[in-house]
This record gives sequence, C-alpha cells and structure tokens, in this order.
Amino acid sequence: MFLSVGVRFEANVEALNMVETAGNYSKHRRVPYLVEEDGKLKTVYVPALSGENLAHAYQEHLAREALSLNLPVCDDCRRGEFYKSMNRVHLEKKVSPIPGEPAKIEEAIVKACVVEDVGGFLYAENPPVRRSSAFQVSYALPVKSMALFATSEPQLHARHAQMDSSSKKGNASEQMIYYVEIGTALYGFTFNLDLDAIGVSAITSEPILDENEIKARRDAAVKALFRMLSSAQFGAKLSRFFPVGGIKEVAVAVTEHPFVVTSPIYDDYILKTERRLKVLKDFGEDYLFTAATEDRVPEEALKETVEYLKQKGAL
Ligand SMILES: [Zn+2]
Repeated sequence: MFLSVGVRFEANVEALNMVETAGNYSKHRRVPYLVEEDGKLKTVYVPALSGENLAHAYQEHLAREALSLNLPVCDDCRRGEFYKSMNRVHLEKKVSPIPGEPAKIEEAIVKACVVEDVGGFLYAENPPVRRSSAFQVSYALPVKSMALFATSEPQLHARHAQMDSSSKKGNASEQMIYYVEIGTALYGFTFNLDLDAIGVSAITSEPILDENEIKARRDAAVKALFRMLSSAQFGAKLSRFFPVGGIKEVAVAVTEHPFVVTSPIYDDYILKTERRLKVLKDFGEDYLFTAATEDRVPEEALKETVEYLKQKGAL
C-alpha cells in the first residue's frame, strides 16, 4: 500500500533550515519561486525547508520508534548519523565478514537496520549496492497564494559576558552580536511512503524478512511520521526558534499502488486530490482519503489512517 500526505503548517519566526554562516550572520534557506501577480509571472525568493532537512528529522523519529518496538537500528543511525553503510568501515560495524554478492549485502543491511531498510542506502564499494528510499519528501515551500507575504528577516542578538578587571574594555570576547535570519510563512510539503518496499529486496523483489517483522517495521514507519507531525520536531534551532504556529491542514491518501496527493501549496489541493482519487475508483482501486482542516485536528485524520491500514492488514 502507498501512503501520501500533504501538510500545511504555519511557522512564524522560524529558523528551521539554516544554510550557511558568514561571519556572525546565519542565513535561512531561500528558493526562487514563480508567482502570478496582476496577470504577470514573476520570480520571488522565499524562505524554504529542504527535503533533506525534513528527511533527517523523519529518520531520527524512525530510529526512536523502531527501538521502542524492539526492532534493530544500527549504532550510527541510533545517533542520528545517517552514513547508511556508505563504505566498508561503516558496513563492517554491523556486518562482518561482508558478503560478496549485492543481494546478500542488501539483505544483511536491511536485517541489521530499520532506518536503512526504510530510508535506503548507497554502499559505494565493489560491488556497489543501492537501495532507494521507501519514503519521499518534498521541500516545504510557502503556499502559492500567499507566497508574496512570506518573508525572511535577520534578527539581532547579543551575547554578553561579565568583564573582569584584567580584561581591556571593548574586548570582542566580552560581547558578541550576531544575526539569525528568520522565516515566516504558511508552508506546504508532501510526504510519501511506499509500505510495500519495506523489508523487501530492491534487487530481487523478494521479502527479506518474515511477515510479522515487515508489519512491525511498517508500523514504526507510519508512527514516525505521525510523531514528527504531532510533535513538530523537525528542523534546526528549535531550542530558541521553535516556530510559532502549527499544523493547519493535513490530507492523507492511502492507495493500493503509488498515488501522490496534489501539492498543498495549491489552495484547491484537497478538492483536486479527491477528484483524482474518484477516477482511480472507476478503475477498481480501493482507497482512503481523509483530511483535517478547520474543525478537525490532524491527529484525528492520522488515527483514521492507522485504523484503515490495520483493517487492510498492512500493519
Ligand atoms: Zn543504520
């Protein structure tokens, strides 16, 4: 089964994705964006969160959920360092001796680590072995109709230290000013999860694990997403720039084969997704579509999704 989620969240004064520090200035990620104004197209630069940023957070949640279900997670992934068996040094920590066949290498890695099973890996040695991620995540971008109101602004901060008598007045170490660029926008992003890819070889298409373990891993993968959304634990600088706002809307589609919800950057994404799904039903494909907008909280839609997946025997 395939899960696709569209999320809209309001984030005011956030520093969720900082790209570089130049001197005392930390810069927020920005992307060019095509918007229509008075019938003309123009490019504006808007604050954004990279898919890499969201994927990192998701995998941290996945490691935690997997461990709480007593599922295997390798030491690197436990620490949130997603090297993903990239070379012999990292692979040998969990599989020794390293098998010679690509399918055997994949099998060993998948068995040893849920994060690499779900999030994929690239073993860049001889023979190279690649496993695509079972989850996909877009950049989080400002909702189109409001993109012109999205802003990023530097904020001045100062760090002070008490002067002792031996230090000279004006010493730079006693006071430091720095700027953190903050973003404010109504963001939208899409998250997809191919439940059929979990615990199954990308090389032979045969299951690597038994059915119970596959179901448990799918459960961890779904819970990790819900935890990430519910706790708003994604992105950087949460300790002092926890975004003011929260999730405004969630739309979830569960289908038998890959189907992606219309991007939540468009205002009519829920309606469009529903219409697209109805056509799918005409082809005889069963689905669940549920959304949480004004009077429904996101957790209610997410719970309905879990119940549907259980009823379908996917979890
Ligand atoms: Zn791992």
